[in-house]
Amino acid sequence: MAHRFKTLVGEIQKTLLQTFLPTRCPICHKVLNDSEPALCEQCFRSLPFTHLKGKAQNFLERKLTHGDWKTGRADALILYYDNSIFVRPIHLFKYGGQSRLALWFGKQMALNLLNESFFEGIDLIVPVPLSRQRFRKRGYNQSECLARGISLITSIPVCTEMVSRTKDNISQTHFNALGREENSRNIFQLERPDLARGRHLLLVDDVCTTGSTLVNMAQTISLAQDVTFSFLTLALNPNLPVHRPPIDEEELRV
Ligand SMILES: [Zn+2]
Repeated sequence: MAHRFKTLVGEIQKTLLQTFLPTRCPICHKVLNDSEPALCEQCFRSLPFTHLKGKAQNFLERKLTHGDWKTGRADALILYYDNSIFVRPIHLFKYGGQSRLALWFGKQMALNLLNESFFEGIDLIVPVPLSRQRFRKRGYNQSECLARGISLITSIPVCTEMVSRTKDNISQTHFNALGREENSRNIFQLERPDLARGRHLLLVDDVCTTGSTLVNMAQTISLAQDVTFSFLTLALNPNLPVHRPPIDEEELRV
């Protein structure tokens, strides 16, 4: 009882602090003004954008193209550099409970592609699921928050019942490319093939480190037959291992 009371007091204190303290930019810690809901204007403009803009046959699309399914389009908003200050907001929504940041980034991912016909023909947005244990621990799925942000801009519905995750892969950073592929294998289960069959799905993830999580998720869903996949991630490892064809470095430049 005493513990529950303490927790409740802690929660009230946290809410009061959040209400009365000014919101700060998660990157430079400057106090945000009313027109800056998540990052300050300067940090937003300085983000390491990929400039892929969902262009046909960009290197991410080629990496995620697979013999077993039809590939639509692929894009990532920013590049992910391990020790960069720009990964702070990603860490905050992954490990710091700030789901609203993920929702905001989801909207930016969609706004960035609105003039590129990227979303044409897509029926459903399917976020990469978390395992039940990790969902319970975190309280939300950050990829689902990104997906909901995308949906707010595009009006394409989000589907979370189609596929589940049977286990979490251990942090990908400890593995070489081959180990990472192995680490992501067989971690998904197709729950509702009827929702996938004959549809064009947009798979959404927060960070694309090797592409193996998205490839394995698409592999599982493709069992439903006649599925087309497009892919959209917030961040992309610029050293994504590409087995075929090689990365065109020019594509990542402004
Ligand atoms: Zn800032």
